[in-house]
Amino acid sequence: MKERISNVRDYVQQIENIKEDIIKYLINLKELDNSTKELWISDVKDFYYYIYSGWEILETNLKLDKKDIESSKNFLYTARNLLSKIISQLKIFKNNKSSDLIIRVDNNFKECWDAFWIIYENPLFEKEIVKNIKKVIIVSDLEYHLPCSVCGKIAVEFKIGYGRFDEKESLVFRGITHERSLSIKLAYELFKYILKRKLLDVHKFMEKHHGYEGLDAYCPECDKIYCWEHYDAREEYDDGFYDCTYGICPKGHKRMIDD
Ligand SMILES: [Zn+2]
Ligand SMILES: [Zn+2]
Repeated sequence: MKERISNVRDYVQQIENIKEDIIKYLINLKELDNSTKELWISDVKDFYYYIYSGWEILETNLKLDKKDIESSKNFLYTARNLLSKIISQLKIFKNNKSSDLIIRVDNNFKECWDAFWIIYENPLFEKEIVKNIKKVIIVSDLEYHLPCSVCGKIAVEFKIGYGRFDEKESLVFRGITHERSLSIKLAYELFKYILKRKLLDVHKFMEKHHGYEGLDAYCPECDKIYCWEHYDAREEYDDGFYDCTYGICPKGHKRMIDD
């Protein structure tokens, strides 16, 4: 295992090299003003930093447990989102140097990603197969959780309470891509659907009162809930700006889950 982890270091090194090349390219780019340059360079540095941190967790913990694996994965997911942001920035400049960097960073990241997943998929860290995952977890009369149908991790929370910026009590939704506070008056209707375990109705409720992407963690074709990992969620960027997030469920159904 230790040997495998130190092998991953080579792929992390590749990312460090391409990071330096992209930064050099951005510094010399005349079409870009200095403040944008700084922002983009810090994205590239963060991208590398997250990958390095994902590796460092594996390297420094003598006895790796599932929690370490989970944290390492989270760093890699964050890096993957940043990579789509960086590629969307490089795409603005239609020249050979830019295209070369895109191809290289994309390939290097794929190789690096695969190397990490060889570690993650080691039987030692396989999650116990969770049997009888509940559709709904009733925390209290005021709080309900919807677990991922594959791993049982909580993907969605609905509760009566205070969201981050709320001044009054609201119906707080926390999904896999974002949080949102809705009017408390809607809670009665929503909780009715949840208690009947009608996930499709919960999704439709969210389409109506939240946004047309509905319940982000829900695949309508499967009628199931998935966490970020099992929905294989990916952020997409346009010219460096966040555009939307797509999810592809384990059955291959793809849809926009945040916009
Ligand atoms: Zn899951
Ligand atoms: Zn599906």
